[in-house]
Amino acid sequence: MSNDNILSVTGLSKHYGGVAALNACSLTVRRGSRTALIGPNGAGKTTLLSVIAGSVIQDSGTVLFDGHDISHLRPDERARLGLARTFQIARELGRLTVLENVLLAAAGSNDESALSALLRRGQLRRRQAEQIEKASELLNRAGIWHMANSPASDLSGGQKKLLELARALMLSPSLILLDEPAAGVAPTLVRAMIRFVQELSDSGITFAIIEHDMRLIEELCDQVHVLAEGAPLISGTFAEVSSDERVLSAYLGTTHE
Ligand code: ATP
Repeated sequence: MSNDNILSVTGLSKHYGGVAALNACSLTVRRGSRTALIGPNGAGKTTLLSVIAGSVIQDSGTVLFDGHDISHLRPDERARLGLARTFQIARELGRLTVLENVLLAAAGSNDESALSALLRRGQLRRRQAEQIEKASELLNRAGIWHMANSPASDLSGGQKKLLELARALMLSPSLILLDEPAAGVAPTLVRAMIRFVQELSDSGITFAIIEHDMRLIEELCDQVHVLAEGAPLISGTFAEVSSDERVLSAYLGTTHE
């Protein structure tokens, strides 16, 4: 794998019964890029993200991340190597505070009992101040620090997406997979999300982003892979793919929001 590519997937296939969600899918993500994964519903985008993150196991094919073959590692092992993801539907724990949700991400867990165990354990208490400082800084940068001590269930849809991103950042990732960061988000918070991703990108983090909002893709992404039927149809800049006849007729005719 070229050192220019932080991620390289080769020949990924994944079937659900008779449906090929991924069909010999090969593509790369350049280090430092903001790479979009677009395509119609059912093209395999979320399945690809899940296979890269390790929550879905491929039938065949390999995933190379930063020079490591991670094809058979667990999601938490991938996260510790610097690969983070956010979800289309935010996965906050509503009864915990916003700050506690971020702290839990540092423990590599999403389970309330893990948080109380974590807060009781002596050796972790020593690291607690450090973690609280980091979590607070991330919430501040995400623009939701004022909600830190509120239950996460009080956040708006857009704030929950920003919380997801703050959670992803707790393990200091080098690559973040974003699943529809603008879906269900009010326009002002879409702006906040774009600014935050740009700032993180400037600090060296690579992004792979599934999104249906073409304006966001055009503004944010320097590389676009268009997926269809489980594999890339075409790759290039937004200008290149959006002027391709096949993409125009089949995929960009139905932009929404
Ligand atoms: P969308 O834009 O609608 O989110 P997508 O491009 O992310 O779509 P996937 O969600 O990856 O597409 O789905 C690819 C195909 O695999 C679809 O036909 C879908 O119905 C099927 N599929 C995905 N996950 C499962 C599952 N857990 N069980 C059965 N079929 C699935």
